[in-house]
Amino acid sequence: YNKKSFSKASIIVVLIGDSGVGKTSLMNQFFNRKFTEQYKATIGSDFLSKEILVDDYVVTIQVWDTAGQERFQSLGVAFYRGADCCVLCFDVNDSKSFESLDNWRDEFLIQAAPQDPENFPFVVIGNKIDVEESKRMVSQKRAMAWCQSKGGIPFFETSAKEATKVEEAFQAIAKIAVEQE
Ligand code: GDP
Ligand code: MG
Repeated sequence: YNKKSFSKASIIVVLIGDSGVGKTSLMNQFFNRKFTEQYKATIGSDFLSKEILVDDYVVTIQVWDTAGQERFQSLGVAFYRGADCCVLCFDVNDSKSFESLDNWRDEFLIQAAPQDPENFPFVVIGNKIDVEESKRMVSQKRAMAWCQSKGGIPFFETSAKEATKVEEAFQAIAKIAVEQE
């Protein structure tokens, strides 16, 4: 029989962004296919991991979530170190969370201190696109212009609530991180 052979890879992804944008919900949707309206600062673990297929690779993707401490303090070096991809998250209905992306990106580059900061793989996620159009504060155009100004960061719009593009975003994140290895 034909047995396709897969290489193995292992990647670490960190999710950062203002409190309330939906980082924990994105994790919960990707790993558990669940969504809850209830506000919970954390789902109780520092990271979750699973195996996914990316091209000819079996990739163990390990995603780190904050435990809610982004509200009060810096996350600390230990949180950022070793990341292969940094996902900057905002809420498309909250301009402030979008305007914070610059700070989050700077913070990551300072704390993680990657070898090649110019080419480090970031991804931007604009979450909560299920909310009614009239409440939207950050247009796709505006978000894409920011991503372009930072060297062409890939941009995804998601809804953790309705599971829109969550799988696709994480699949793309894994691919970007694997290609970086
Ligand atoms: P975090 O602080 O970034 O981890 O954000 P959470 O995942 O805790 O989410 C904050 C709040 O936003 C919670 O009440 C979630 O239910 C809600 N939320 C998260 N994602 C979405 C989404 O895609 N759509 C909507 N409508 N609400 C969301
Ligand atoms: Mg959270």
